[in-house]
Amino acid sequence: MDLDVELALRAEIFTALDRLVAKRGGSLTRKELFNFELQGERLPLVDGQRGIRNPASFSSTLSIMTTPNGQYVDEVVGESLHSYAYTVGPINKGDNVKLRHAVTTRLPMIFLQWINVDEIRYVPIYPVYAIYDDPENRQIILALDEKLLDVGDPLHLSPVEKRYAQRVTDQRLHQPKFRSQVLIAYKKRCAVCRLGRPELLEAAHIIPDNAAHGVAEIPNGLSLCRIHHSAFDSNLVGFSPDLEVHVGPALMAAENEGPILKFALKGMHKAKLSVPEEDHYRPSVDGLAERFDEFLSGKRPARLRNLDVARTEPVLWGGGK
Ligand SMILES: [Zn+2]
Repeated sequence: MDLDVELALRAEIFTALDRLVAKRGGSLTRKELFNFELQGERLPLVDGQRGIRNPASFSSTLSIMTTPNGQYVDEVVGESLHSYAYTVGPINKGDNVKLRHAVTTRLPMIFLQWINVDEIRYVPIYPVYAIYDDPENRQIILALDEKLLDVGDPLHLSPVEKRYAQRVTDQRLHQPKFRSQVLIAYKKRCAVCRLGRPELLEAAHIIPDNAAHGVAEIPNGLSLCRIHHSAFDSNLVGFSPDLEVHVGPALMAAENEGPILKFALKGMHKAKLSVPEEDHYRPSVDGLAERFDEFLSGKRPARLRNLDVARTEPVLWGGGK
């Protein structure tokens, strides 16, 4: 297949995958990836057994997956870029040929991030690129962003490149993983209004992720629809440690703003949050207490204050070639 044709085909795959991933709340089972269809034709995005997918007609690798303890490990190189290990066996045979060739074709690939919440699923991250072949260490180096295709030395990023790579890793790898895990734990429903449309659900951090203890783990998360997430982040709505919804005075005093205000916000005052039954998925009581104190104090949320700081930060990245 001509490389331009293959690039266009990969773009079509990503568009179809966008829809499927949105509908499923960010993660897919191996079976769903295996039964993937493009315009009515089956085009498996994973191999039956292996952690790498090299379709016969493709010039280079289409997808790679991680497993927690298996052979398909990804590791962080220089605190910012990810590496992906060659498959076992000779470096110039089998799956390694197309994996290594991906560095030359620079065609976008799918990186399948393993999660396990009740069952094993994968969070597809795409497009990602193979930017460096490292046969000595039997690995390729991955970039999670097109701009990182042009870094000078992938093994030794400059401080600016490293900061950028870390931000991309957080946005493209850690946040989608956190959201997928939280949504599954909450059975893909809003904890406040029980809306069950994954396309409209987000994972809220109880303790914001820019705080040292704002970890991206299920007990620090809440599955919320966009309205309730924004209301929570702005401290217009608070959640008490005993899982009660408290609508703040600003919203309670408001009138004549239509059904969202009346039913979705004021109407939820004193409602009980719907949270997972499993103890290890339930929201942290300490985290809720800390956030609830902030809500009761009427202070501007720390999260918004930090966003202001981020907005004034100069753009450090000069862009590609
Ligand atoms: Zn909601």
